[in-house]
Amino acid sequence: MYLEMNELACACRRQWKIDVNESIDIFSLAINKIKNMTIVFKVMDDDISGACLKLENENIIFVNSRHSKGRQAFTIAHELYHLKYDDNKFNICGIESDDEIEKKADLFASCLLMPHGAIETYKLNNDIQSWDLDSIIDAEQYFQISHQALLLRLRFFLNEITYEQYMAFKEDIIRNASIRGYDSSLYTPYLNMEYLTIGNYIKLTEKAFEEDLISQGKKEELLLDAFREDIVYNLNEDESF
Ligand SMILES: [Zn+2]
Repeated sequence: MYLEMNELACACRRQWKIDVNESIDIFSLAINKIKNMTIVFKVMDDDISGACLKLENENIIFVNSRHSKGRQAFTIAHELYHLKYDDNKFNICGIESDDEIEKKADLFASCLLMPHGAIETYKLNNDIQSWDLDSIIDAEQYFQISHQALLLRLRFFLNEITYEQYMAFKEDIIRNASIRGYDSSLYTPYLNMEYLTIGNYIKLTEKAFEEDLISQGKKEELLLDAFREDIVYNLNEDESF
């Protein structure tokens, strides 16, 4: 199943015109490449990683806002599998599922973020004979994949680390990344927001207002429903160059 899902993930990258070895930002890519995509970050029970809803003209992915950015990236990639290849209109996804489709979606997600060939190329380019914590953290930062997802891949699908290493490498990741010079953003929630909507919903709301289909008040109400106080009250400061 691993190689089959890797093939599917690579086909998806080809369709999106993204090289197999490239690192991707799945947060912007999902919005960019999937039509009518909205991503909603919200607080959910810890054992729920996300959900997705496929409507006729709308694709919505829900992401547990309390999980780390790495895990959220994995969740978005996992939900993309449901949206693209699963006939179900609605899915709620947790951890530890024996369901066949869930396993496929997990493998697809892992391979979309980090294709099998990309790991091989990465090892070659970085002269990695065997993985240690240094090379693992470098690689997960490069691919923006969660620490856990990379460890699982190396242990259970590639058999390149031992179970003892797997257990030892799991510990203290924020500290271990910090002392190697990385910031902690991959290991903490995306933008540190509990509620956030990005993508098509926001675009449609603005468009409906511009075309006089809704009033200013309605626009603000819709944006506030989507947790976008920042747009309504203009709280974002632009970068100055
Ligand atoms: Zn799922």
